[in-house]
Amino acid sequence: MAYKIDPNKCIGCHSCMATCPMQAISAGPDGKCVIDPAKCVSCGTCASICPVTAIAPDQK
Ligand code: SF4
Ligand code: SF4
Repeated sequence: MAYKIDPNKCIGCHSCMATCPMQAISAGPDGKCVIDPAKCVSCGTCASICPVTAIAPDQK
């Protein structure tokens, strides 16, 4: 299971990109961040630092 960013909450601050130990997070064309589920190891680091709690485990 990977973590997922809610695009409706993300404000594009990019703080999560710098904290991910797997470089699984990148910025999309709209400036909002997206997580590559193939790289995410579900450590939760990004979720703990996101200022708007836009990141959570993907419940799919
Ligand atoms: S830390 Fe949160 S608000 Fe900032 S870019 Fe990442 S998901 Fe978006
Ligand atoms: S949960 Fe961990 S590995 Fe997955 S995107 Fe967030 S910081 Fe990176």
